Amino acid sequence: MKFLQNNREHLNTKPPVIASLGDSLKIIPLGGTTDVTKNLYVYETKDDILVVDCGIGYPSSEILGVDILIPDTSYLIKKKEKIRGILITHGHEDHIGALSYLLDQVSAPIYATKLVLGFIESRLEERNMLKSARLFLIEPHLGSFNIGEFTITPFYVNHSIPDSLGYCIQTRAGKIFHVADFKFDFSPVIGHVFDIARASQLAKGGVLALLSDCLGSNSPGFTTSESEIEATFDTLIGKAKGKQVLITTISSNISRMYQAIIVARKYGRRVVPIGKSIAKNIEIAQRTGYLSVPEGSLILDDQKRKFRDSEVLYLIAGAYGQPGSALVKAASDANRYIKLQKGAVVIFSADPIPGIFDQVDNLINKLIIKGADVYYSEIQDNLHVSGHGSQGDLQLLASIVHPKYFIPIGGTPKHMRSYAELIAKMGFPRENILELLEGQEIIFKQGSVTLGEKVPTNEIYIDGLQVGGIGPAILRDRQMLANDGLIALFVTISKANNSLSDIKIITRGFVYPEESRELLDKTTKIAKDTFTRHIGKGKDYPFMKSQIEKAVLEFLYGEIERRPLIVSEIIEI
Ligand SMILES: [Zn+2]
Repeated sequence: MKFLQNNREHLNTKPPVIASLGDSLKIIPLGGTTDVTKNLYVYETKDDILVVDCGIGYPSSEILGVDILIPDTSYLIKKKEKIRGILITHGHEDHIGALSYLLDQVSAPIYATKLVLGFIESRLEERNMLKSARLFLIEPHLGSFNIGEFTITPFYVNHSIPDSLGYCIQTRAGKIFHVADFKFDFSPVIGHVFDIARASQLAKGGVLALLSDCLGSNSPGFTTSESEIEATFDTLIGKAKGKQVLITTISSNISRMYQAIIVARKYGRRVVPIGKSIAKNIEIAQRTGYLSVPEGSLILDDQKRKFRDSEVLYLIAGAYGQPGSALVKAASDANRYIKLQKGAVVIFSADPIPGIFDQVDNLINKLIIKGADVYYSEIQDNLHVSGHGSQGDLQLLASIVHPKYFIPIGGTPKHMRSYAELIAKMGFPRENILELLEGQEIIFKQGSVTLGEKVPTNEIYIDGLQVGGIGPAILRDRQMLANDGLIALFVTISKANNSLSDIKIITRGFVYPEESRELLDKTTKIAKDTFTRHIGKGKDYPFMKSQIEKAVLEFLYGEIERRPLIVSEIIEI
């Protein structure tokens, strides 16, 4: 890890913070509440800002052509001088995926565990930002360290990715526990058991607030251990003798992949990763020492040809049905690395997150039509265990930390409300459980809390490799194009006498021109009349274009109730 600096030099570099009158702490979720994803939390005092997590979100499929959402960090950019560091809880994209976008605007060191730093380095390298990044390794056994005036003590938690941490953050207003995605797993496949002893120790002396995962607040009981999956894989792969087998899971779920590799080996299959994200994450996990598999269990694309389909197991990306992902391509015969066979066994070992259920359903349907036998959670038990704690896990953490205030995070309003009710049932005062929507400031002072302002936040869309956001105007155009097609009007005028020479109309995805000649002729006439009406008033072409587009749109809506995207151009000859 070339650019890594050890955090030892940071240990206790400042005297502990002593709370005094007037010392307040502001916490703002800039993402992660309201939606499940794009987690970003701001801890702010008079002098310092600590950022916890910086992840991406996933747009619903009706947002056309948009790849990801990122949190609105305008608030942070305005106060960038105060930012002392970015603390990362775990390596999921909805907690680290937006770091490069924030680092474009803000210079701050990043603190994370080894595997997480591996993922972060790889993302930053893709955008050529690794050299300028300041990355600090957190080694929980070394204890506390400071980021600005905040004293951070990490402790291990369990989640669907190894090396996940919870934090006790000592602030001038009091002690805050930040426990993002977690569950209790007493037999994790890879990594540590939730460090209950340390969490309890840290909670001694009173905790002001607990920010807790709440996504599983509607699931009764405790979440099952990750290790339960192996038996299900064993059953399904065992009975798939001679068949092509594909397993899809979240590309960062190293433990799940490990179990697939072990079971595949038992049945004489070698594992072939398909999809850039899976291959890359396996490489990172191997390099950082989190995935060690028997020699020869994994094979790369170029060696694949040596093996028959019945001798391999494909670990394929696309469990959420993401457009362009390896499995989506395979379902449309468009993946050059794998040809889906009739009777192939396709195992979905992941549950879709809220907002993308339809996308996954579409993919499952496509695979079934192609002749695959598809296994997914609704029809097969123990195919996926959540990385998020259920009601029992959430209550257990509440008991361990026993804070004065609770802030549910990482859930939608539905999950936050269920969490609040669950915690209230334990006897905690209902008014001390604070359901914060995105951007809602909360201020802790002298042991009590007040709601602050609402920081304005906008949805910021990222399309492809473009760095800037996609605004509402672009989305509106895409929506019109998708729904009703395009009309382009080319208005040619004679420079000499400002008279109209010609209007040419071109349509795409709107109507068949041959069958709709009359409509298009009328449309041309509307454009012509509008032009003639305005040309006498001067050569304000942008205004004339907008008038032509408006008139044509109104006409078409009146005639056939459709709103195509209309573009016009005035050409002088
Ligand atoms: Zn997570």
